[in-house]
Amino acid sequence: MYDDTVVDERAIAAAVAAVRARIERACRRAGRSPDEVTLIGVTKTFPVEAVAAARAAGLEDFGENKVQELVEKAGRIPGALHGGPVRWHMIGHLQRNKARDVVRHADVFHALDSRRLAEALERRAADAGRVLPCFVQVNVSGEPSKFGLDPGAVHPFLDALAACEHLHVVGLMTLAAPADDPEDVRPQFRLLRRLLETYDARDNPQVDLRYLSMGMTGDFEVAVEEGATHVRIGTALFGAREAP
Ligand SMILES: *Cc1c(COP(=O)(O)O)cnc(C)c1O
Repeated sequence: MYDDTVVDERAIAAAVAAVRARIERACRRAGRSPDEVTLIGVTKTFPVEAVAAARAAGLEDFGENKVQELVEKAGRIPGALHGGPVRWHMIGHLQRNKARDVVRHADVFHALDSRRLAEALERRAADAGRVLPCFVQVNVSGEPSKFGLDPGAVHPFLDALAACEHLHVVGLMTLAAPADDPEDVRPQFRLLRRLLETYDARDNPQVDLRYLSMGMTGDFEVAVEEGATHVRIGTALFGAREAP
């Protein structure tokens, strides 16, 4: 699939710098500190050499949306979980039967969207003796094709996670609807932030909502203006992907 891709290290370094500069400008507009925003390089479909090149350019966080690719790349460049030099973020939909792979290889999981998946991850994390930091995925655009909980289901879902001692819910994640003008999706990012701000964790020790994982190549500046703490960026860093 990607074996014959040539990785242009200089182009990746320049792209990392350019995206960081755009994040900084968006932060300045919003009166935020760039230190609050983690740039996750989404390396799906690109070879592990692209991860190495971006790491050399200072990037420490990487995202994959398929378990198989995560396992392959994290096998070559381990995550902090195993004392490695990067953090691996599993950002794609996960089937329950792959929960163990994620617990083994992902530093952070961004797509928690059902109780049954939470139960599977909880069991595997308990077996492995680790705590898995998770984001709950929310479908803010209402598109039927999107994964994620309906906004109205998020708070009850968070309440139900109180029993999952090996999951630590650190934030909410979303994919906005594709839009020609990123201004169109600003209300979707605002909705995610409001869901975070209005959750009352009370005596739920597993939930400590601090982070918003939102914003991709087409809309990350608007996401940062609306409070994103984690932006997941592929195309602007590594170039266009071939159609799947
Ligand atoms: C592919 C992907 C991204 C990055 O998309 P770009 O538009 O290439 O920046 C972000 N989040 C998720 C969940 C993805 O699957």
